[in-house]
Amino acid sequence: MLEKAKENKGNEERKQAEITIGTCGHTGSGKTTLLYSLTGKLTLEHSEELKRGITIRLGYANAEFRKCPNCKEPEAYTTSKICKICGSKTELLRVVSFVDSPGHETLMATMLSGAALMDGALLLVAANEGIQPQTREHLMALQIIGVDQIVIVQNKLDVVSKEEALKNFQEIKEFVKGSIAENAPIVPVCALQGVNFDLLIQEIERCIKTPKRDEKKDPIMLIARSFDVNKPGKDPRELNGGVIGGAIKQGVLKVGDEIKILPGIKVEEHGKEFYKPLITEVVRIHTGIDFVEVAKPGGNIGIETKLDPFLTKGDRLSGNVVCLADKELPTFNELKLDFHQLERVVGTKKEMKVEPLKVNEVVVINAWTAKSIGTIKSIHDNKITISLKIPVCILKGERVAISRRIENRWRLIGYGIVL
Ligand code: ZN
Repeated sequence: MLEKAKENKGNEERKQAEITIGTCGHTGSGKTTLLYSLTGKLTLEHSEELKRGITIRLGYANAEFRKCPNCKEPEAYTTSKICKICGSKTELLRVVSFVDSPGHETLMATMLSGAALMDGALLLVAANEGIQPQTREHLMALQIIGVDQIVIVQNKLDVVSKEEALKNFQEIKEFVKGSIAENAPIVPVCALQGVNFDLLIQEIERCIKTPKRDEKKDPIMLIARSFDVNKPGKDPRELNGGVIGGAIKQGVLKVGDEIKILPGIKVEEHGKEFYKPLITEVVRIHTGIDFVEVAKPGGNIGIETKLDPFLTKGDRLSGNVVCLADKELPTFNELKLDFHQLERVVGTKKEMKVEPLKVNEVVVINAWTAKSIGTIKSIHDNKITISLKIPVCILKGERVAISRRIENRWRLIGYGIVL
């Protein structure tokens, strides 16, 4: 009886990842290959249209981290249900959800929105290419958002000599000195062949802990993606409602919950334009593994709602925040921040000092998964006020990233704490 109960609990735990880990690093560092090698089988197991549509569009993949009870470390760590060394059944440690962050240089804002959902990160460096400007940008983005559980992955060991690998290792050590990743382990791997994945899983288990989350608080979910899962020409009576994707920060969401999406969509009433929250209902919840009745904080989820799918098409609702329909969350047209300026501009080829902010200057801000353009209205010491083009929903005390246009690109120059 006890055995049975334990087994069922195991199945429940397997239905939603308990943690989200981001993969960062420049375009050629092998992020996609690493994710495919770690998670490939699991994500493509299910083929039902809706499930597949949600999983692919969320841009994440789940992996089961497991351990053989009879083998020694690190060889005992695996993603396989049967130990490849001794043939024993392995035990589940955690289900982990991975999100890929774009390495393309114009997509820094997307990386910052993604970072809001990360509990920890893998920072990839290709041993043959070394530290790139994008590697610096991604590390700074993690630092600014406050993602401090990091494992560094030194990839593509198969294409360099032992001397080159050691030289690259020293380069990485030097690069992280004084940063948030100073004490992060550096795990050499070959993602294509899955070499050293046992050690990688061991280090992730050791260094990236599942944060303590409060499931009793009122739920808050950050929306990173939104989409329409219906194929063109589908019978309107059989249409699925709009789907929102993202992660729950706190509390739980259940099928049947009435929810509010903030700040919502732009409407015009009596000649005035403003953002109006959307109210809808949770119809189905998918975790990238299966449908569940209750979603917890942790791994990314997709929620089918009763919204017209037109409203969720093409990420229209990304950056919005979900709470229960009868609760409130602060929405800001004007943000007051305690501003922290970086010493140097992130991502430029030449080293550049950050010039102080000016009144009337235009900046881009990232607040949770939202991005908005704003104008600096006032500056008093470190306290700044920014008037926003699109309102954002965020809690006081949270971090907001601030970028300025330099050399035709938005580049990180600092962050602010919401006052
Ligand atoms: Zn074994």
